[in-house]
Amino acid sequence: MNKKVTKIGVLTSGGDSPGMNAAIRAVVRTGLYHGMEVFGINRGYSGMVENDIQPMTSRSVANIIQRGGTILKTARSKEFMTPQGRRQAYDNLQKHGINGLVIIGGDGSFRGAQVFSNEFDIPCIGIPGTIDKDIAGTDFTIGFDTAVNTAIEAIDKIRDTADAHDRLFIVEVMGRDAGYIALHSGIATGAEHILIPETKTNIEEIIQGLSEKEKRQKLVNLIVVAEGDEFGGGNEVGKIVKERLPNADVRVCILGHIQRGGSPTCLDRLIASRMGYHAVESLIQGRHNVMVGIVNNRMHYLPLDNAVKAKEKFNKDWLTIVKILAS
Ligand code: ADP
Repeated sequence: MNKKVTKIGVLTSGGDSPGMNAAIRAVVRTGLYHGMEVFGINRGYSGMVENDIQPMTSRSVANIIQRGGTILKTARSKEFMTPQGRRQAYDNLQKHGINGLVIIGGDGSFRGAQVFSNEFDIPCIGIPGTIDKDIAGTDFTIGFDTAVNTAIEAIDKIRDTADAHDRLFIVEVMGRDAGYIALHSGIATGAEHILIPETKTNIEEIIQGLSEKEKRQKLVNLIVVAEGDEFGGGNEVGKIVKERLPNADVRVCILGHIQRGGSPTCLDRLIASRMGYHAVESLIQGRHNVMVGIVNNRMHYLPLDNAVKAKEKFNKDWLTIVKILAS
């Protein structure tokens, strides 16, 4: 396993997130700085299986640090889930002489990397790129900060119109398994209630509170719902509230994919640059099959095996804060 890594491949895999380009740029330029050859692998593991691989130069990553999406594209690959697909992928890497990989993606992509490096003698380094922030072993994932800022910008606008009409707005943000976007954007926009997959919600209490506010004529009510909450997202919560409070003027807004796009924030560009740099340094130092994370502002290396979805990491005090500040 500890052969010198001289030719590296970089790919983005699974769900895209803003800041992935900044990470690609950091990996390519750090690799070139150390005299390595760097290859871009297109469309995640699909490009590995299909040999959609090209050499990268410093210029290939010029003018991308500020762009959302990923210049290498991303995909989900069924073939890579099979031993034959992974064999094909390995043979393709061999054709280019690639002997180290940097995978920018979520926990699914890391599982793929772990399986692959168990089967073949190739070191893999993971960089956490997901808007959901639900990966163990890191305080930040690339794209979360941008997604949450996009969400608050949109919710602020919704608040203006909600205020103009005395409406109750239910806003659904992304997060099938994790409530971080909902929790952060909800607190930052002064939501009365935040519904997330990690906790059970007492809907009766919410209805009760809303009907009291209706009586007191509280003007703006805002509920932020993660798409994966126990009721099944914003539309479902909207149905329940409309049924129980027929006089309330209730509107549902699903923010959707705008949360994945856009120019990455300073924080996302910064962590992407640091993680990209340290991913290549890790390959050079022989630190293999780890995810490069940041904990307490220091680089943190977690075995890929342990880089799984972290569900219960969020601070439960935050829900108390929501309750008190919305009263
Ligand atoms: P994310 O990285 O965003 O969590 P996915 O869960 O869709 O995204 O995983 C991305 C890709 O990683 C999958 O399409 C598949 O090619 C690969 N992958 C995931 N799990 C495995 C596994 N157990 N074995 C092999 N490949 C896997």
